[in-house]
Amino acid sequence: MTSPPKKEKFLDRLAEENGVAVIIVDAEGNTPSESNNNSMCRNLYGSKEFAPECDKFCGQAYRWASESGKPVDYECYAGLSCRAVPVWEGRQQFAAIVGRSFVKAEKYREATERAISGDWRQFPPTDFFENVLIAGSAQSIERAAAKLEKFSDPGRNDILELDRLTVAPPQTPPQPDASSELEQERIDELISKFREETEKAAGELEAAVSYEVQQDRKAAAEWRSLFGSLMKMEYREAGSKVLSYLKDRYALDSLIWLERRGDRLEMLVGIGELAGKSIKIGVEAANKRLLDAAEREVPVEFRERRREGEKGDRILSVFPVLVGGEVHGAIGINSHITDDEEKHHISRFAQTLASQLEILRLRDEVARRDWLSRAVTRFNDELRRIDSEDFWTRIAQVSAEMIGAERASILVRNEKSNTLHAKASIGSRADLQAVSGIGVRVATRILEIGTPVVVTDLTGVGIDRAPAEWSYKTSSFISYPIIIDDRKIGVLNFTDKVGGDAFDRSDLELIEAIAPQIAVAIDRNSLREKAGEYEQLSVTDPLTGLLNRRYLEERIAEEIVRSKRHRFSLSLMMLDVDEFKSYNDRFGHLAGDAALRTVGDILKENLRGADVAARYGGEEFAILLPQTAAEEAGQIAERIRKQIEKAEFSGRQVTISVGIASLSKEVDSPRDLISAADVALYAAKNRGRNNVQLFNGWGEATDDSVH
Ligand code: GH3
Ligand code: MG
Ligand code: MG
Repeated sequence: MTSPPKKEKFLDRLAEENGVAVIIVDAEGNTPSESNNNSMCRNLYGSKEFAPECDKFCGQAYRWASESGKPVDYECYAGLSCRAVPVWEGRQQFAAIVGRSFVKAEKYREATERAISGDWRQFPPTDFFENVLIAGSAQSIERAAAKLEKFSDPGRNDILELDRLTVAPPQTPPQPDASSELEQERIDELISKFREETEKAAGELEAAVSYEVQQDRKAAAEWRSLFGSLMKMEYREAGSKVLSYLKDRYALDSLIWLERRGDRLEMLVGIGELAGKSIKIGVEAANKRLLDAAEREVPVEFRERRREGEKGDRILSVFPVLVGGEVHGAIGINSHITDDEEKHHISRFAQTLASQLEILRLRDEVARRDWLSRAVTRFNDELRRIDSEDFWTRIAQVSAEMIGAERASILVRNEKSNTLHAKASIGSRADLQAVSGIGVRVATRILEIGTPVVVTDLTGVGIDRAPAEWSYKTSSFISYPIIIDDRKIGVLNFTDKVGGDAFDRSDLELIEAIAPQIAVAIDRNSLREKAGEYEQLSVTDPLTGLLNRRYLEERIAEEIVRSKRHRFSLSLMMLDVDEFKSYNDRFGHLAGDAALRTVGDILKENLRGADVAARYGGEEFAILLPQTAAEEAGQIAERIRKQIEKAEFSGRQVTISVGIASLSKEVDSPRDLISAADVALYAAKNRGRNNVQLFNGWGEATDDSVH
C-alpha cells in the first residue's frame, strides 16, 4: 500500500481539524481529491434522485469561484454551508469546496428529520450518518479556508512559488502556453521542491493540531488514537473514553459528561468520584454564560451545594460543548482549574470532539427509535390477543414485561365517584387491597397533576415509603397517568425493575409510546363494560357497534400528534360499499342494514390492538391504523376487501372500495389525512370499484375524474 501524497495528507488534516470537508474540483467536474467528505453528500450526490440538486450547488462551485476570482459562500439545498475557493496548482486552476458542514442548528435538525422520516429515508442511517459534519460555527469554515490560504501564502512563495495553492489568484489567470524545455526543467525542479515543502508544512500543521503534540509524543499518539477510535464506539462509551483520556492527560480526579435534555444539562456518564452521582444543571439561565465561556475558551464554575454539616464548597468546572452555535453538552470537572493554558486546551479539546460526539449521539438516537418502534409493534400484537375476560391482568402483564418491571398495577378512575380503583396488580404478594392504600393516594395526585413521575430513589423525595409488608426490593418506581383529551382515565404503576436497577428516562419514553394504545384499549374495554350506558352511545354507532365519526375524528388528531412525536407512521383507510343504493332498492332497507352490520363485523375481525374502526357515514367506514405505513395498510385493506367479496349476504354479493392515506410531509393534519384518503377512495371508485388505492398526491383524482 502506498501512503497518500503529502498534499493529500495536508488537506486531510486541515479538513479533520476544522470539522469540514475539503473537496478539490476542476473545470470538468472531476474531483482529484476529497478529504473528510460529508457522508450525507456522498449519499445524496451518489443517488440519481438527488444528484441534480447537488449539481445546482457544489456542481457550480468551480464556475462560481473561477468567475469571481475570490471565495464564494453558499448554502446548498441540504442546508450545508460551503465556501468555494479558487485555488491553483501550477497553471491549472481548481476550486476547493471547503465546508459541507452544518452551521445552523435548524438546518441540521431539518436534515436529520428528512433522513429519519422524510424523503431521505431511503439511505441506510449508519452509512448516511457515518460522517456528518457539524461545524461549531461558520468560523470553522473560514478558518479552514484561511489556512488553505496561509499554507500557500504568496508571501512564502520562496518555498512554493509556481506550484502554490493560492487563494487570491492573479487577476488574469496564467494562460497555458507552450513551455520551452528549459521551462519544463524548472517546473520539475519546483515540483520536487513543492513536494519537499508540503511535507514540511504538513509536519508543521500536524504540530499545530494539538497542544499535546508540542508537549510530548506519547500524548500525541494517544490523542490521535482516541480521535480515530471514537467513530467506532457507541455514544456513551465514547463519552467515557473522552473523560478517561482527559483524566489521564491532566491528572484529574473526577469528570462527567453532560448531555443537553430540554433546558437542562444532565449527567450521562461519569468517572472517578462523580461516577455514581446524578448531576443536573439548568441551561436556560446560564446559557449565555455557557456560550460566553465557550467563546473565551474557559469553563463556567458551578458551586456544589453541600449538605448540612459538610464543610467547604466543591467546584464543578463546566466546559460547554457547542454544536451549531448551541450548547449540546458539556464536560464537567470536579475541581477548580487554575492554569489558564490548561483551561484553553480542555475547552478546545471539547470543541474539537463536539461534532464527532454529536454524530454518535444521533446514531444512538436513530437506533433507539428503531428499537422503540419495534417494541411498540410487538406491544400492539400482544394487545390484540387480549380478550375481555382477563383484560386488566393481561394489560398489566404485557406492559410490565415491556418495561421490565417485576410489579405493576393499574388503577382506573370511576367517572361518577371520581375515585381510583385498582383493577389489576401483578407480581406482588400484596393484593389489590395494598395498592389501594398509599398507592391510591400517590396515583390520585399524579392523575391530578397529569404528568408522569419517575422516582429513582424514594428515600429522597418525601413520599412515604411503602409499608414494609409490601416488601419492594427497590425504591424506584414509575407512575404514569393515562389521559385521553381531558379525560383522566387511570394510572399505571411500575415497581421493581428486573435486575434491580432504577427506572430511567428511556423507560419513561417507552411507556409514553405505548400509553396511548393502553388508553384506547382501556377506553374500549370500559365502554364494553358500560354497555347500554349513555357514554357508549355518545361514541359508538348503534347499528354496527363500531365507534362513531366524532370519536374517530378526535382520535385522528391525537394520533397525528403522537405519531409525529415518536416518528411513527400512521395510516387512515376509508371504505365505501359499492353500488349500495341499488342493494337497498332491490332488497329493502332492512336487508341493507343487515349488510352494513356484516361489513362492520368483518372490519372488527380484522382489527389489531390499537386500530380504531368507525362508521364514518351511511355506508362509509374508516379505520385509523397507528404505526402502520401505507403498504401494510394496503395489505390489511386487501384482506378485508377479499373477505367481504366472499362473505354471504342475504341479497347479493357486496363489495367495497378502499382509499388509504398516510401521514407525510404533504399530509400532516387531520383534515389532510381524511381528504387524502377520500381522494384515494374516489380513485378506487373510478378504477371500477372493488379495489384498494393508496393516495399518491393531490393531483391524482382530478386527472381521471369522469363520473
Ligand atoms: P358507489 O359508492 O359505488 O359510488 O355507489 P353507492 O350507490 O354506494 O353510492 P351512494 O353514495 O350514491 O349511495 C349510498 C347509499 O347507501 C345511499 C343509501 O341508500 C345507502 N345507505 C346509506 N346509509 C344507509 C343505512 O344506514 N342503511 C341502509 N340500509 N342504507 C344506507
Ligand atoms: Mg358513499
Ligand atoms: Mg357507496
